[in-house]
Amino acid sequence: MSHEDIAVIGGGIVGLAIAYGLRQKGLPVTLYDGGPGDFRASRGNFGLTWVQGKGLGCPEYSEMSRRSSLRWQGFAQQLQRDSGIDCGFRRPGGLNLCLDPADLDRAESTMQAINRVNPQLNFQRWDAQRLRRRLPAISDRAAGAIFSPHDGHANPLNTLRALARAFQLSGGRQAYNTPVREIARHGSGFILHTARGEQRAARVVLAAGLDNVRLGRQVGLPIPIEPVRGQILVTERLPAFLPYPTNVARQTLEGSVLIGDSQEHAGFSTATRPEVLSRIARRAITLLPRLAESRIVRAWGALRIMTPDGLPVYAASTSHPGAYAVTCHSGVTLAALHSALLPDWIDGGVLHSLLEVFNVQRFTLSSPAAVNR
Ligand SMILES: Cc1cc2nc3c(=O)[nH]c(=O)nc-3n(C[C@H](O)[C@H](O)[C@H](O)COP(=O)(O)OP(=O)(O)OC[C@H]3O[C@@H](n4cnc5c(N)ncnc54)[C@H](O)[C@@H]3O)c2cc1C
Repeated sequence: MSHEDIAVIGGGIVGLAIAYGLRQKGLPVTLYDGGPGDFRASRGNFGLTWVQGKGLGCPEYSEMSRRSSLRWQGFAQQLQRDSGIDCGFRRPGGLNLCLDPADLDRAESTMQAINRVNPQLNFQRWDAQRLRRRLPAISDRAAGAIFSPHDGHANPLNTLRALARAFQLSGGRQAYNTPVREIARHGSGFILHTARGEQRAARVVLAAGLDNVRLGRQVGLPIPIEPVRGQILVTERLPAFLPYPTNVARQTLEGSVLIGDSQEHAGFSTATRPEVLSRIARRAITLLPRLAESRIVRAWGALRIMTPDGLPVYAASTSHPGAYAVTCHSGVTLAALHSALLPDWIDGGVLHSLLEVFNVQRFTLSSPAAVNR
């Protein structure tokens, strides 16, 4: 590795989206990724590119999610050209399915509040009748849904593979199985102490998921994140019946249905728990009764990377100029935006004004309730 290189630490969707964007600008990049025992949200997520409900109290978050959703189509097409891999992105609009009329009213009020400060964010309230016309598989117990045209979904594993391949084919260097243990200042750059020896870098980008807490401390970037576990069930392949991604289930292009919207503070454990799995399965079956006939073929737990306010972090170190950190809990949704906007910043430019509020100083000033989870 040349000491002019930018080191991106973390080969999940956040690190890869940034590394790919940096290579598109022609910058020299080495991507370091960890070992098999690491937590990897990018390999265990639900695959939604989701905008509705995000950004209550933070219009910048709703707007950046909306802009990323708009960019996703072009991002997926470019990735397919560069890697030959289809990310499986579709944006038919998404449904927040509600069983209870009070939940539907609450969801609508939330969207109205977000829309008042960000009128670009469109949505419709679908009552039970309209929902049934658009989604015949819905249970007649459902109260209705909020439809948002900005929502979509992608195959997260294909997206990860496409990014890794496109990065490699563009001349990016990959150091897999090479966890970075320590980062130290070296002249105007850095020395990385890795599991495979020392490497130099002109700049470092921390995109190591939950390990950003440890690495951030080493470069003057205190990032308060905690793991929040989600559990997911996958059915066998079924004939197409769910044309929209929803908050409780989505059907892949291949026919499997992913089910799951659980959130647990369970420390650093990715274990599955039968009571949680049966709760999410029951809810999905109540809303989409034909799921009762399907067989579950897989289940897993994975850890979200969550800040106290549920919002991302884009931080540049003042004590260690040239060190950057990026953390977020909607890395699939934001991948298209990250790839487009973050490389200029890391290349010495200014952070896009929409992202300025997501600094680390906000955690020392106040700690608002987590509303964006
Ligand atoms: C159950 C669940 C459902 C989700 N659903 C969605 C969804 O529908 N839509 C959405 O947008 N988001 C969703 N997310 C969130 C999304 O998955 C994450 O925001 C995203 O994957 C975070 O990516 P990351 O690259 O920051 O972290 P990770 O994917 O965790 O990757 C971190 C990488 O860093 C590497 N690493 C760690 N330490 C080191 C080190 N010291 N040196 C080198 N490498 C290191 C690891 O090996 C790993 O590859 C979900 C998450 C979960 C858990």
